Amino acid sequence: MTTELLFRGDAYLKTASARVIAIDERGIELDRTIFYPQGGGQSGDTGVLLRANGERIPINDTRKGDAPDRVLHFPEPGSAQPEPGEMLTLEIDWDRRYSLMRLHTALHVMSCVVVAPVTGGNIAPDKARLDFDIDMSLLDAGRIEHETNALIARGVATETVWITDAELDARPELVKTMSVQPPRGAGRVRLLKIPGIDLQPCGGTHVGNIAEIGDIRVIKIRSEGKRNKRVEVVLAA
Ligand SMILES: [Zn+2]
Repeated sequence: MTTELLFRGDAYLKTASARVIAIDERGIELDRTIFYPQGGGQSGDTGVLLRANGERIPINDTRKGDAPDRVLHFPEPGSAQPEPGEMLTLEIDWDRRYSLMRLHTALHVMSCVVVAPVTGGNIAPDKARLDFDIDMSLLDAGRIEHETNALIARGVATETVWITDAELDARPELVKTMSVQPPRGAGRVRLLKIPGIDLQPCGGTHVGNIAEIGDIRVIKIRSEGKRNKRVEVVLAA
């Protein structure tokens, strides 16, 4: 059994109802979820599962299961255990997720300012980073910040586009991130399109309009190895 990934169609869902399909020591599986499982450098969601009797099951993390489209919700140790088949109300920690969405989308924009292969990346609720295969002398914090913020200020709406595996294979230039495999499945690949700015495969959650990011600040640039020059950013507000 697989989990319907509701956040794929609408990243702004803060609550939903779902049925428990499996429970074991690894976590709780639901027939549908708004919780994003850690992947593509983006942290897994936190939140709460609410039982009909009012009991709260805090969720500390969300991870992928051992098959595509399987999602494990990790309950806080010692919390109540739901029953298989039980209907639950799902609530994600929205403020945390929205920060992740803003920072994640900011990295897409920044990847168009720093023109170099991306060798790594991470998105936490308070900061995000990309690693580039580039010479340190070409990374200027002030310039990256200024140019990224100028693109964000265009305020364009983001779009989700699906193409076939064959179409992606025919356009290898779309894959900028060497460390993350494109989110393939069922013969099609999901792309994030920021019209006029960026187009690349991505399975993460993004804001609907890049204006929602607001300004970013570059807080650190440092070398993490020959092919990893790290640029770390935070949201300015
Ligand atoms: Zn993305």
